[in-house]
Amino acid sequence: MKIIVVGTGYVGLVSGVCFAKIGHEVICVDHDQNKISKLKNGEIPIYEPGLKEILIEAVKNKKITFSNNLSEVINSAEVLFIAVGTPQNEIDGSADLSFVYAVATEIAQYATGYKLIVTKSTVPVGTGGEIAELIKKNNSNLEFSVASNPEFLREGMAINDFMEPDRIIVGVNDDRSKKIMDEIYAPLTSQDVSLIFTDIPTAELIKYAANSFLATKIAFINEMADLCEKTGADVKKLSIGIGTDSRIGEKFLNPGPGFGGSCFPKDILALENIAKKNNSDLSVIQAVIKSNDTRKLNMVKKIVTICDGDVKDKTIAVLGLAFKGNTDDIRYSPALIIVCELAKLGAKVKTYDKEAIENTKKELGQNTNIFYFNNSYDAVKEADAIVIATEWDEFKNLDLSKLSKNQIIIDLRNMLDPNKVRKAGFKYFFIGGK
Ligand code: NAD
Repeated sequence: MKIIVVGTGYVGLVSGVCFAKIGHEVICVDHDQNKISKLKNGEIPIYEPGLKEILIEAVKNKKITFSNNLSEVINSAEVLFIAVGTPQNEIDGSADLSFVYAVATEIAQYATGYKLIVTKSTVPVGTGGEIAELIKKNNSNLEFSVASNPEFLREGMAINDFMEPDRIIVGVNDDRSKKIMDEIYAPLTSQDVSLIFTDIPTAELIKYAANSFLATKIAFINEMADLCEKTGADVKKLSIGIGTDSRIGEKFLNPGPGFGGSCFPKDILALENIAKKNNSDLSVIQAVIKSNDTRKLNMVKKIVTICDGDVKDKTIAVLGLAFKGNTDDIRYSPALIIVCELAKLGAKVKTYDKEAIENTKKELGQNTNIFYFNNSYDAVKEADAIVIATEWDEFKNLDLSKLSKNQIIIDLRNMLDPNKVRKAGFKYFFIGGK
């Protein structure tokens, strides 16, 4: 099938490239000229393991092309996926739909024949209906359907998640769009991937419910970790103890510095906003938001306490800046909040991240207390304390013999083996145990 994907960010680019890999002809569109130029030159504008190889293959097989002008390509495909950002509205926490509406308006303006318009962006319940209204208002003659196909991929694992998803959710309201969506995903469903059809509002809400549930699990285990520290229990064993109960499941039970990233923080706020608008009680979700906000600042307090109550003029190395390992995405990263708070308290903060350092430099700008390094060992040299803030594998394999003995290591991702690190002469602290 011929498919257009509008928005070539983490979701749009991965989706476009994977649709090409499963045999479709894809045009990826983005209004960011710089991104499209890079893609046309075979460069990947984001860090995502495995993406480059599939992209090169798709280009070679003439399965994918790129454009920065939707109006020029719109009528070469019947199906359009909208994969633009839906960032947090800083005023009320709702999802900012301006990018989605801009694409819908452009579609109405330039489309001629039948179009199936599918939202892959995470959008509040009711958005499908609003897109339909907007298109009717701008082009009353256009024959079209809307559908919802929320995306569940995780950055760092995106290719695998797209090609072998736990399930695909598609919300439709007519048979024509159901048939098209069935056909698009046939190469995956023929490999036993389950495709669940729902109505459009349910599909839209499934995405928010899924992310909010996962965020709740993280906030829960973080609070349990605090309780473990206060009672002498061990959160690692506790996670195994509860996670082996199949009703609970073992995933998302690793305590850390709070959840961040481009999805959980904004999606949970957007769900709270949807509930408010619908006069529906979501007190569990409100508690999770509060718990996660407090969490990041509590991590700073933990670091300060370990550093004898004061970090002023001390040197703290922070390893990891991305919101999680295997990505260069720093949106709402807890690591960045920790870096900035420590710098505010007068610490000299030496930072390192394999992929996220350039994004961080852009985001934080000039700060006389924040320094950037190209490898872990330079960053930790002469640091009073080393904080592991992101779970990059390379930190698990740190060569302790290259560090100075007696340095404090504060492992906010519980990556290292306490016995091994302490035996090697370090003062080691982790989350949820002694
Ligand atoms: P992103 O910011 O990485 O990419 C969005 C892209 O859309 C940008 O390249 C931007 O230039 C482009 N764009 C914006 N307006 C446009 C327009 N009018 N025409 C053409 N291009 C336009 O965002 P993302 O992380 O890929 O997220 C996209 C959506 O997917 C969001 O709703 C997000 O919540 C959802 N989502 C993200 C993830 C994730 O892990 N990043 C996972 C699941 C779902």
